[in-house]
Amino acid sequence: MSKHYDIIIVGSGVAGLSTLLYLTANEQYKNGALSIALIAKGALDQTNTDWAQGGIAAVKSLQDNFEKHIEDTMIAGGHVNDFNIVKKVINAAPALMQDLINWGIHLDKKIDGSFDLVKEGGHSEARIWHYQDTTGHALQETLIKKTKLVEKLVIKTNNSILKVEKDENDVFHLLNFDKIAKTTESLSCSQLVLATGGVGCLFEKTTNQSITTGDGIYFAHQLGAKIKNLSFIQFHPTGLYSNSAVSFLISEALRGAGAILVNKKLEAFMQQYDPRGSLAPRDIVSRAIISEMNKLNSEFVYLDATKIDPAYLTTHFPNILKHCKDKFDIDLFKDLIPVVPTQHYSCGGIEVDEFGETSIDGLFAIGECANTGLHGANRLASNSLLEAIAFAKFATTRLLVKSNINKVPIFKKTMDLTKIKYLDRSMIQYIISKYAGVTRSNDGLKSGIEALCQIRANALSVEMNSKEEYSLLSWENEIILELGILLLEDAYSQPNNIGVHYNLDLI
Ligand SMILES: Cc1cc2nc3c(=O)[nH]c(=O)nc-3n(C[C@H](O)[C@H](O)[C@H](O)COP(=O)(O)OP(=O)(O)OC[C@H]3O[C@@H](n4cnc5c(N)ncnc54)[C@H](O)[C@@H]3O)c2cc1C
Repeated sequence: MSKHYDIIIVGSGVAGLSTLLYLTANEQYKNGALSIALIAKGALDQTNTDWAQGGIAAVKSLQDNFEKHIEDTMIAGGHVNDFNIVKKVINAAPALMQDLINWGIHLDKKIDGSFDLVKEGGHSEARIWHYQDTTGHALQETLIKKTKLVEKLVIKTNNSILKVEKDENDVFHLLNFDKIAKTTESLSCSQLVLATGGVGCLFEKTTNQSITTGDGIYFAHQLGAKIKNLSFIQFHPTGLYSNSAVSFLISEALRGAGAILVNKKLEAFMQQYDPRGSLAPRDIVSRAIISEMNKLNSEFVYLDATKIDPAYLTTHFPNILKHCKDKFDIDLFKDLIPVVPTQHYSCGGIEVDEFGETSIDGLFAIGECANTGLHGANRLASNSLLEAIAFAKFATTRLLVKSNINKVPIFKKTMDLTKIKYLDRSMIQYIISKYAGVTRSNDGLKSGIEALCQIRANALSVEMNSKEEYSLLSWENEIILELGILLLEDAYSQPNNIGVHYNLDLI
């Protein structure tokens, strides 16, 4: 018989841990009326959250206001954002920052004691709260520290959910694989919160962690939930050019501080593409870079940070300075940084309502795996950590109300994966990257869908002989393949070029 919980949260990034903290602060939990388990594929801090650099957007200064933040968000999103959601999240942002401060986060302050708010691409005012250039790490550490103080929690790390099903009583059944013990178990819950992050690993090069295979989006799709705008992939214009599949991110904040983009001939080019220059929204900058690379037949352009005051560079970007110097021997004070647009963020995902609930009763999606309507066709920088915290709080209200309904799991035979497909991950990533990159075309997308469907049709299903094979055969590859097909189909069906989606046949 599987162990049953009222709520299972899958994911330990900002979305998963904030939901957990909001839920457990409630009397219902404290009185013992609510059982909660949280599961994470890796260590608690193996998350994209931990890698966030720039910060969290929220209105604070006197010259700023909600209308300006709303307008900036709508402009970046191509005005297809859900206006009511944009308003709800942005109006909630200052109170959410206060929650983080109450939980103990340390953020940079100026000498006068006020918070050091900075500007990023697409923002008309300085409203990014940050801790140096490692805000995500500060946030992740704070959330973990606070979580460790919560009693009666069940937390399973290095545990992967491989499969989710739902029974006739609306109870969710999960197949969980313990990667260390190499054992599987069945779990069930009345309400399931997917906080599984993005889809970076669908692509050959990404700024994301290796856990980002889109598992939650795949599970939700399998359960019949609506998936929206999966093709709205934001490419970060300034991933550090290297041979590695995971690219180190050179934060937008560096351009906010005055770094400019120059091509192979060392010519500044952004003004030709957009009056906002190097600080134009990411999709515009990424396309401009690709255009310059094609013109000059180069594999990258450069970011020039040498004109920034060295003292400012040292205090605001210690992590980028150190990483570039130690790992790549690039000295930001005098060297140019080779950069290339790199897969960075999934703007679409599992469609949810204003409380983070999907089209399936009791199934919630929070954070990067969700499509809330906040980002529209493109995310404004530093709005994603904000979105995750906001929806963690909004969802808590409904999760608590729904937890009063007693759901009884129907006994099911123990779930197991007995067969698994042999798939070549790098071939799948190559196809997705080639046809669903910064620029797309109808023929390319059709070819990509055909190629992926061919791989699916030809894949050999093999019997599992032992639990060891879960990790060896990498069950994630099937998820990458299936989401790749969904992503390309979604791109093909988009009627217009908007935000991050740019199809050369729709110009
Ligand atoms: C380099 C970088 C810099 C960024 N900078 C910023 C920034 O400055 N500001 C900003 O707002 N945003 C930024 N972002 C985006 C932001 O960090 C992410 O959108 C956000 O952290 C996502 O949080 P999340 O909780 O949804 O997912 P994550 O933090 O990625 O966490 C996902 C969790 O799901 C778990 N998981 C996944 N699948 C399974 C499974 N099958 N079983 C069990 N567990 C599973 C993982 O183990 C992990 O715990 C940045 C992203 C990157 C990569």
